[in-house]
Amino acid sequence: MGLTKQSTGMDILVNQFEIQRSSNDGKIIALAGNPNVGKSTVFNSLTGLNQHTGNWPGKTVSNAQGKYNYKNTNYILVDIPGTYSLMANSVEEEIARDFICFGNTDSIVIVADATCLERNLNLVLQTLEMTSKVILCVNLLDEAKRKKINIDLNFLTECLNIPVIGTSARSGDGLDSLRNAVCNMTHIQEISAPIKILYEDAIEEAINILEPIIKNQIPDKINSRWITLRLLDGDIKLAESLHKYLHYDISANPAINEKLAEAKAFLANAGIGPDLLRDKLVSRIVLMAEEISNKAVTFEKETYNNMDRKIDGILTSRMFGIPIMIFLLGIILWLTITGANLPSQMLSNLLFWIEDLLTESFRWINAPSWAHGLFVLGMYRTLAWVISVMLPPMAIFFPLFTLLEDLGYLPRVAFNLDNFFKKACTHGKQALTMCMGFGCNAAGIIGCRIIDSPRERLIAIITNNFVPCNGRFPTLIAILTMFFAGTIGTPWQSFLSALLLTGIIVLGIAMTLIVSRLLSMTILKGLPSSFALELPPYRKPQIGRIIVRSVLDRTLFVLGRAICVATPAGLIIWILANIQLENISLLTHCAEFLDPFANLIGLDGYIIMAFILGFPANEIVVPIIIMSYMSSGSMMELDSLNQLRELLISNGWTWLTAVCVMLFSLMHWPCGTTCWTIKKETQSWKWTLASILIPAATGIIICFLVANGAIMLGMV
Ligand code: GDP
Repeated sequence: MGLTKQSTGMDILVNQFEIQRSSNDGKIIALAGNPNVGKSTVFNSLTGLNQHTGNWPGKTVSNAQGKYNYKNTNYILVDIPGTYSLMANSVEEEIARDFICFGNTDSIVIVADATCLERNLNLVLQTLEMTSKVILCVNLLDEAKRKKINIDLNFLTECLNIPVIGTSARSGDGLDSLRNAVCNMTHIQEISAPIKILYEDAIEEAINILEPIIKNQIPDKINSRWITLRLLDGDIKLAESLHKYLHYDISANPAINEKLAEAKAFLANAGIGPDLLRDKLVSRIVLMAEEISNKAVTFEKETYNNMDRKIDGILTSRMFGIPIMIFLLGIILWLTITGANLPSQMLSNLLFWIEDLLTESFRWINAPSWAHGLFVLGMYRTLAWVISVMLPPMAIFFPLFTLLEDLGYLPRVAFNLDNFFKKACTHGKQALTMCMGFGCNAAGIIGCRIIDSPRERLIAIITNNFVPCNGRFPTLIAILTMFFAGTIGTPWQSFLSALLLTGIIVLGIAMTLIVSRLLSMTILKGLPSSFALELPPYRKPQIGRIIVRSVLDRTLFVLGRAICVATPAGLIIWILANIQLENISLLTHCAEFLDPFANLIGLDGYIIMAFILGFPANEIVVPIIIMSYMSSGSMMELDSLNQLRELLISNGWTWLTAVCVMLFSLMHWPCGTTCWTIKKETQSWKWTLASILIPAATGIIICFLVANGAIMLGMV
């Protein structure tokens, strides 16, 4: 027998959600919406002081309920958590979805933001797949009016076939119509069917296979088409919720399981695997929201002014968009490279003068030579190098990059690259996560949450490491400055360095696209999902904020981290370099062991060791290389970058070694923090390992090709 209202006792559900029904049987109204759309304002205006808050049963998410009376009927308004979607990807989404599906509500009011209707319509359409008892409250109409955005509420009513009410909740406008609409909906017996979201034929066919049996077995209050879609989508949480709220164990029903297997096999036959299906389900709704919004929303005057439009006409044009982007990047890098020379030199002079003083003091107190070696030549010298090599370029690069960010240029970068990402079968928003990666790859990986499709999110996570982060940027700049710009760089030399560095970053972006494409063609197959990218107006940069953000949040943060990791690393390197085994230091033993492999890819054993020991933080790779050479070769007093360059050259470096080190720095395993973040975000060791192996293998292959290519062409 299928479940009926009587056998499950639907009213018990209300108690399970701990909703306090009033004595004369109030109607239950759920209030849903995206965050920050004025939901609380609507809630407070309708219920006044008649409310109480607590937590959702068994969850730490707060729950607010309130009562109001309208035309002699009591209403209980339940404020469900603000979410962008009902995919149950978070606790909030799970609560919202369960309450809409199993809460036995008499009506659901979805509050939407009139100034960005499209994003809000996603939630409306997702809810309409579950229930038809929906009222759309288009709030913030006053704000929309101010921005010259017109919303055609009649069109929305007709198109969605649900009541649509316009409000400005802060001033109370339209709230009476909302109360009235709720009253009407809760008092009519038959609610007309809202807009139906149709999927492509194969998916509809699969729905037809499974839905009849679901309809037969699950109570009619629960939308059978929606349950069918979720089961096809392999939604485990839904099965748990069915069990929890209806005491219905779907896995114990052989008839459903049989049909489910049949429908899934049908989809698989049609070439629609689980990931592709999820993509298609999500993108269909997104597309539909876009279509409806395009028809319902008109801009009296564009949201961004004519000047912005003109600027965008150039910055995002097909012809100039990408060249300007590369040019701007080149300018920033050129300014960084030329600007960093002199301060770098002065800092190193100062810090090595202090080193001399320290050495004198150690001598004066008759300290043993190992103590001098360990603390001055090991720890202090590494620290001095980290500061003098990394601080000046960071102090110039980060404020300049933050300036572009503050001006609003980064979304334009995403816009320019969107087409490339589409061609790589990935999400256009990946460009934004890449920009975040310039700051810190771990932040870039967390930023990948803005991509809804799990397939595209994974691709963005795996390839994020191809953009050089805070930690690797200074490494790249330091090597370029030493090797290509020279320490007393002529303008041409620094121009060449900037050009090379721009080339390396463009290569990183190209590798991101190539690897993304390869992943989409192999282990992460699927089509790109579409999305709407908002181009925010250009803003006047706030210099104070830029300085605080770039100096405190980025420069000092990275430097602090580098110092914390570099100091003990300097110590370890010094110990490795000074503990001898058969008259050869441990460091040299390791380096010699790695040498044959390293030589194949244009590096040497010490460099590979530096990358391995630099796993805690990329910042310390160059200092480790320097430390290794200094402790294994003749001890030199390095008081200028010129001498540092000579140290590298005396250890066999050529321009080709410098290029290969830069390439390997661009493409190798992510740092420890990033790996940890990837594990946390993907919840999978497999994908974490893939994120380590894929960039590392790419780096090894590219370095091998470049090193051997240059040798074969007789360039070195
Ligand atoms: P919630 O996160 O959806 O609960 O949103 P809130 O109710 O906290 O509202 C977010 C902000 O929007 C608050 O500053 C409100 O005062 C403001 N707000 C809410 N409704 C309106 C409205 O209709 N017009 C305007 N201009 N502001 C509103």
